Amino acid sequence: YQAKRDRTGVEVYESKRDSNTPDRLGLLGDLRRALDAGDVELHYQPKVRFDGQVAGLEALVRWVHPERGRVPPDEFIAIAESSGLMPHLTEYVLETALAQVARWRAQGLNTPVAVNVSPRDVHTPGFAGAVAARLARHGVPAGSLQLEITEHVLLEDPQRAADTLAGLTGHGVKMSLDDFGTGYSSLVHLRRLPVSELKIDRSFVARLAVDNEDAEIVRCTVDLAHSLGLLVVAEGVEDDETWERLRDLGCDAVQGWLVAAAMPPDEATAWLLARGERGWHRQVDLDRVAA
Ligand code: C2E
Ligand code: MG
Ligand code: MG
Ligand code: MG
Repeated sequence: YQAKRDRTGVEVYESKRDSNTPDRLGLLGDLRRALDAGDVELHYQPKVRFDGQVAGLEALVRWVHPERGRVPPDEFIAIAESSGLMPHLTEYVLETALAQVARWRAQGLNTPVAVNVSPRDVHTPGFAGAVAARLARHGVPAGSLQLEITEHVLLEDPQRAADTLAGLTGHGVKMSLDDFGTGYSSLVHLRRLPVSELKIDRSFVARLAVDNEDAEIVRCTVDLAHSLGLLVVAEGVEDDETWERLRDLGCDAVQGWLVAAAMPPDEATAWLLARGERGWHRQVDLDRVAA
């Protein structure tokens, strides 16, 4: 992606000019085949509250190309978006995630799962109804599904986007605003989007403990989100110091390597079974209790 500003100063995202190079076309065909063959996987990364309660798991797509090895999601998602494959990828991800949620529920594990959806999806006619139908087919209650969107959904036809999101929340699906603080975040968007959660982008969280400006941005974001009744999740939390700063700033939940990286389904199941009752606690806190 290349960021550039349009005449009104709003940042718009454009896929790189080389979108039709043989390399990208090759990857696109390979991705399409991988989806058809079921060779694309989902890994799951926990979101935990400061009291240790597991708030949910985020599904993150993983593709290992037979010759090139692991392809980063940012890369193939850009290709899917600029080629029309995105609806197919999202259907695949929703289908896989909901099948997993149904299996977990059958084992008594009722943790909600979050799925990332692209602006394209939100503009696909009938998207809200299709999600509701899929939930029904898997026997999964809408409250067990969260969809992560970004403000980019409002770039093109904001009214259509707002209608789709209203349809989804009307079915009981919870919406989360991802990567908040990047691009062209604005209060207007926050007010227009029917979200119940806001995720502070990793770029502000990473240097929180050493950069006062980033700490102020996080503080203001937390206060703003709370004044609008939203839950605040910080992404990319890698160390204890950052965890402590976020807790002190009143953030509600964290996600990051400090807790766990995204895990393949079996590992995520074992993680949930081990953490289910007691929740997740930092090693330093466990040591303190043991001492
Ligand atoms: P995101 O939704 O903001 O996801 C968070 C990204 O940060 C993930 O990268 C995750 O693996 C990474 N991460 C988590 N904790 C840490 C940490 O402590 N430190 C660092 N340095 N990184 C951390 P990933 O999996 O490479 O995904 C990148 C982006 O691709 C996602 O950003 C999301 O926008 C998109 N994406 C992933 N899966 C899907 C999907 O199924 N559908 C769609 N539409 N987009 C997806
Ligand atoms: Mg996300
Ligand atoms: Mg994010
Ligand atoms: Mg992000």
